[in-house]
Amino acid sequence: MKSIRVAFVLFLSVAGLAQGPAPQSSAPSLKVTYLRCGSLYDGKSDTARANVTVRVSGEKIDAVGQETPPTGAEVIDLSREVCLPGLIDTHTHVLLQGDITAADYDVQLLKQSTPYRTILATVNARRALEYGFTTIRDLETEGAGYADVDLRKAITVGVIPGPRMKVAGRAMDVTGAYPLLGYSWELKVPKGVQEVDGADGGRKAVREQISNGVDWIKVYSDRSYFVRPDGVLDDVPTFTLDELRAIVDEAHRERRRVASHAAALNGVHNSVEAGVNSIEHGMYISDADLATMKAKGIYYVPTLFVGEYVAEGRATEGNKVWVDMIKIHEDTFRRALKAGVEIAFGTDAGGFDWKIDPAKEFSVMVKYGMTPAQALRAANMTAAELLEMQNQVGSIEAGKYADIVAVPGDPMRDIGQLEKVDFVMKGGTVYRQGGVAPHAVAVP
Ligand SMILES: [Zn+2]
Repeated sequence: MKSIRVAFVLFLSVAGLAQGPAPQSSAPSLKVTYLRCGSLYDGKSDTARANVTVRVSGEKIDAVGQETPPTGAEVIDLSREVCLPGLIDTHTHVLLQGDITAADYDVQLLKQSTPYRTILATVNARRALEYGFTTIRDLETEGAGYADVDLRKAITVGVIPGPRMKVAGRAMDVTGAYPLLGYSWELKVPKGVQEVDGADGGRKAVREQISNGVDWIKVYSDRSYFVRPDGVLDDVPTFTLDELRAIVDEAHRERRRVASHAAALNGVHNSVEAGVNSIEHGMYISDADLATMKAKGIYYVPTLFVGEYVAEGRATEGNKVWVDMIKIHEDTFRRALKAGVEIAFGTDAGGFDWKIDPAKEFSVMVKYGMTPAQALRAANMTAAELLEMQNQVGSIEAGKYADIVAVPGDPMRDIGQLEKVDFVMKGGTVYRQGGVAPHAVAVP
């Protein structure tokens, strides 16, 4: 006890000395940049403001207004552009290069080492940023261990360019439910998840993953989908309700949130009952479960575009259910919108090729009934709130990180403009400007 007290006093005096002589020594050295925006959506209001100047000091936004930059100041001219808060994708897989068919997936886990996959992931992270996604929640590495924790670290310290990352590590499913599957029982093949069974096993896995550096816990709650005669998308639930409850309770106890891959009836119901924080995909959600989601504040991350994109490939493989699911998904999305459930933007990028701009998701959201303003908000403040980053990102206002993108036209008139991001600033650093093409590195 005594030694602790001495140490504490010593610390205080050292800190006092360090701060004493030059109390504001660091403030004047911050680099100041002015962005001159033709118009600006700040992420708070659905109306654009014309001729706005954003003052960026260091990595933060300092002021948003009509200020005329002083002579000699560094000014970035975006006067013919529309400025927006940096986009947030809450469902990505930077360690995947597309897995339309089972074979695509197996090849990556069997023929590519984790170091090689991580090298490819650095390119995907850069692509995500250059598309305009300044923050992502990467929802599991698909067999690449905790490589996402290392990626997050390399980006945070500035070794490689990439978005701010929240990561989920290995994710969890029950024994025998997740690829690789179908190989000889004599072979030990890699798995795309950590296999976890029982409530105690769930708690242990949560503790282990957190100790290895994950921000989020991801669970797979269902599989093996089929459309019932009454049109309901049914499934085989993976975890029991008891197991899910234990995982959620342990994660929340350790101040982590839980994302649940739940595409259909039982997986969604169990996840909602267990109190997860987000339902991923949710192709079918009953009206009763939508009401519970609204009441409990559970977010819906629909990932619409990937469904359309993979359906054809999977149907060719004999899984016609993926085509039927598109209609069911649209209907669920429309009901969720009507029920007032919080919908956050997420794409499953990596499930489709990173050469495709994940911002295509916006157009599908609008096609299925959102206004452009609602779709944009899903990728700004709503996504920031899901990630508990609402005080750091999601809007352009003083005190937040200077994560700002620009597009040539008004996205409220043409949502496709969000696929034309041509300026990207993250934390006050410019990563893309003008005609410089994104993802210049070609990856096979
Ligand atoms: Zn996914």
